Amino acid sequence: MPHRLRYPFHDAVPAPGATLEVAPGVHWLKMPLPFALNHINLWLIEEAGGWSAVDAGYDSEPTRAAWQAVFDGPMAGRPLERVVATHYHPDHIGLADWLSSRFGAPFHASLGEFAHARAVWHDLPGFDVAALNAHFGRHGLPAAQLAQYAARGNSYHWGVKSLPATFNRILAGDTLALGGAQWQAIPGYGHSPEHMALWCAERGVLISGDMLLPKISTNVGAWGSDPDVDAVGQFLASLDRFLALPDDTLVLPSHGRPFVGIRPRVEALKAHHAERLEALLAAVIAPVTAFELLPALFGRMFDLYQTMFALAECIAHLNHLRQAGLLRREAGADGCWRFERT
Ligand SMILES: [Zn+2]
Repeated sequence: MPHRLRYPFHDAVPAPGATLEVAPGVHWLKMPLPFALNHINLWLIEEAGGWSAVDAGYDSEPTRAAWQAVFDGPMAGRPLERVVATHYHPDHIGLADWLSSRFGAPFHASLGEFAHARAVWHDLPGFDVAALNAHFGRHGLPAAQLAQYAARGNSYHWGVKSLPATFNRILAGDTLALGGAQWQAIPGYGHSPEHMALWCAERGVLISGDMLLPKISTNVGAWGSDPDVDAVGQFLASLDRFLALPDDTLVLPSHGRPFVGIRPRVEALKAHHAERLEALLAAVIAPVTAFELLPALFGRMFDLYQTMFALAECIAHLNHLRQAGLLRREAGADGCWRFERT
């Protein structure tokens, strides 16, 4: 069944350093990323005397240069009054401290995202590379790859040179006044600890962050600090919150183009995960590790960087099947979890 998404701005994309107004007072910025996923969308909301930013971009020279062009051009010399982060991932929060320090602008985020960012940045036990490697090792990632992760160190620092020291906490359901309108914070789980999307009924706009993307499915993972989490179940339950929004809502995603079609997109994502869960379960014939199941889940293997996300995603799906009582796991003599059907 086709997704039936509409892309009202299919011909127009803002160049780095430029903006495109996608709703009254809401401007789209597209910033570069040094990955296969090569861009992130940020949002500037026009205030009476300045601007609010939603998400900040990955800390890199090209992104700082693009921001400088935005300061000099579209922002017309008016300051940032606040910086809001949907979640703690580097492409969203990387330049939050730089922006908020430059303008003396308060930083807004949920406690889950703020605290998690700091725990990862400061290598706290459970959030560090050792914990990630212990987790991935238990799920069968070979020693050679674990050694490469250990040698690489804390990759969070690549895109986040510093973090705001203090924050203004956003609670689920809170209303933020941005650009003279009310925006409701909608929590989301499974992709990050306490993601906040922002919905403005008056302007018919949802800033969806990474929770609702038009083309790619959001990464849903089980990581070192929360290894047995049913992130898939959390993510699917979170999607239901978006179904309550009007069908004609313009969704502003962090990757890809603004679109209309919350309902078909949520249905497609649910169908995608249901199909992946079924394929994964079918592949469990003899006791098997999460790492050995990567080809069954994705149909291919990955490079070192992508393996991290793929394995976390595979473990999250296995955790969901355990939660549903369809799989159980046992530790083998080598200390690795092996999954079998119940
Ligand atoms: Zn993210």
